Amino acid sequence: MGNGQVAFFQGKFVPIEDAKVPITTHAIHYGTAVFEGIRGNWNAEQGKSFIFRPFEHYRRLLQGSSFLRMSLPYSAEDLVSLSIELLERNHFKEDVYIRPLAYKSAPKVANLKLHELEDDIAIMAVPLGNYLANDTLKCMTASWRRIEETMIPARLKISGVYVNSILAKTDAALSGCDEAIFLDSSGHAVEGSGENLFMVKHGRLITPPESDSILEGITRDSVMELARNELHLEIEERPIGRAELYLADEVFLTGTAAHVTGVAELDHHQIGNGETGPITAAMRDLYKSIIQGKVSKYLHWCAAAIPERLAIN
Ligand code: PMP
Repeated sequence: MGNGQVAFFQGKFVPIEDAKVPITTHAIHYGTAVFEGIRGNWNAEQGKSFIFRPFEHYRRLLQGSSFLRMSLPYSAEDLVSLSIELLERNHFKEDVYIRPLAYKSAPKVANLKLHELEDDIAIMAVPLGNYLANDTLKCMTASWRRIEETMIPARLKISGVYVNSILAKTDAALSGCDEAIFLDSSGHAVEGSGENLFMVKHGRLITPPESDSILEGITRDSVMELARNELHLEIEERPIGRAELYLADEVFLTGTAAHVTGVAELDHHQIGNGETGPITAAMRDLYKSIIQGKVSKYLHWCAAAIPERLAIN
């Protein structure tokens, strides 16, 4: 028996338990897929879910899919409409995580030539409240270095690349930490396993530049725009040294799943006073109300899904 949920699979909406691929699928063997993580944020007062910056997510997905030489028959606009329909068909009335996956569907296990492999896209959604277990994080520096542009582009969400993140996150969890922070090969702190990295020093916001093997996060971009326009902060994009983080006034991580979350401790060094700092807290609260469609100035970042639009059957 299924749970009544549907996924978009092979060009149509099907019960999620029927969205299955054969074991010979190329993407399972080699990580030849790109994915996105998009939030649908339930606003109970308005009876709507607000999908945050879906066009930006789908544009990044389409860039990744064409980099992997896929030719998907959908535009970013089509994929946004399908995502709205997906939430409405599932009648979700809670926060969800939307997961589009564009993958090499070819049943070819001994072919490493991307241009010879067929592809497809699936979109699914799962309920997701808080991704990180704590409101302020205990972090460690990952012993694994961040994968670099000379190996596989970290700026695209390529499935295989995530083994790098998963090694670091697993190590952090087994060490009693909430999250791992990666260094690149020159020793700069670059990002979390699934989040971008910010620090606050003397009232300025500092974050690694896009050239530092990071994913150009959509939350990062939103936070920088809000920092400039709403909190009137100066922003510096420059490499960050590991010890600079220990000495920062505030450190926080940003991501679609993680939202804006403060770091209290890194490698057993307390950051600031060991609590969420004032700039982090202001940004976290502003971001939270924007993604729930509560701030009219930023409603253009949200696409609404209305669970009651389709009759419940
Ligand atoms: N870095 C990595 C490695 C990530 O996986 C994510 C999550 N997508 C981010 C940063 C944050 O990106 P975004 O804000 O677009 O979710």
